[in-house]
Amino acid sequence: MSKVAFLGLGAMGARMAANLVRAGHAVTVWNRSPAATADLTALGATAAASPRAAAAGADFVITMVADDAASRAVWLDDRTGALGGLGKDAVAIECSTVSPAWATQLAAAVTATGAGFLEAPVVGSLPQAQDGKLIVLAGGERDAFDRAQPVLAPLAAAVRHVGPVGRGAAMKLAVNGLLGIQLAAWAEMMGFLGRAGFDGATALDVLTTLPVASPAAAGYARLMQAGDFAVRFPVDLMAKDFRYATQAADALKSDTPVADATLSVLERAREAGHGAENVSALIRLYTGG
Ligand code: NAP
Repeated sequence: MSKVAFLGLGAMGARMAANLVRAGHAVTVWNRSPAATADLTALGATAAASPRAAAAGADFVITMVADDAASRAVWLDDRTGALGGLGKDAVAIECSTVSPAWATQLAAAVTATGAGFLEAPVVGSLPQAQDGKLIVLAGGERDAFDRAQPVLAPLAAAVRHVGPVGRGAAMKLAVNGLLGIQLAAWAEMMGFLGRAGFDGATALDVLTTLPVASPAAAGYARLMQAGDFAVRFPVDLMAKDFRYATQAADALKSDTPVADATLSVLERAREAGHGAENVSALIRLYTGG
């Protein structure tokens, strides 16, 4: 069993850290808002006062925070950043959904210290995080990937090595791109069918049985129909992912008209006050509900 520092105890991170404790690892946790550590210390984790203090002496340092800016603050802050505590035999693992450009910069900063680095963004939401059934899309050196298996296995149903650093982020953004594009389309078409006189339940009874309905889109469509906007994956995080995806694509001169349009729908939802709601709240743009 290993010494693991887990930094970032939001909706995903708290569940992932709990699975590492349950797997028997010695887990030290840190979160920007310290109250979030209480449930983990009750399970047997130790709380640290800063990312640097948490990382000191750890075999693995795992981060699960909102975005590039949060990741930069947690790893690189001059006084408190995890990099300052990272041992050269440790492996740093970035699980947050970040941009490929930031994953690459962070990898350079970590490996310059002699430590290993793996980007390990995850597919799946709160139920999969809770049950240790995420899919990890790892990017990095094969050695870091192999060494990280004991701490990724308790989190995941599958751990895939998708290439060098940056590929994990790119693949994760493509996964969320495919999801977000479908959800924007479903909200729009359910809005259209409502105007055409259908009640939502009848429309879904037909649509979700057809080959055009992916399991993920059908699941979210049912939340839209039920008016269930309880947060699992908020509009704000999906919009962040589309910003990163379209910026990364721009840098590669890869055209993304559909992702651009979806980002504008997500931004409209944020402007309408739905940023902190589940992404199912996209339906509210069309129902006014
Ligand atoms: P969340 O519940 O909003 O938690 C965000 C975490 O980031 C919190 O611990 C928060 O700390 C921390 N944070 C934000 N800004 C920070 C900063 N400047 N410095 C330090 N910490 C900061 O989000 P989540 O749903 O757990 O998502 C975490 C990551 O996983 C995101 O990259 C997201 O895109 C990705 N993801 C989410 C899902 C999902 O279904 N929710 C699925 C797959 C991947 P505080 O508690 O102090 O605010």
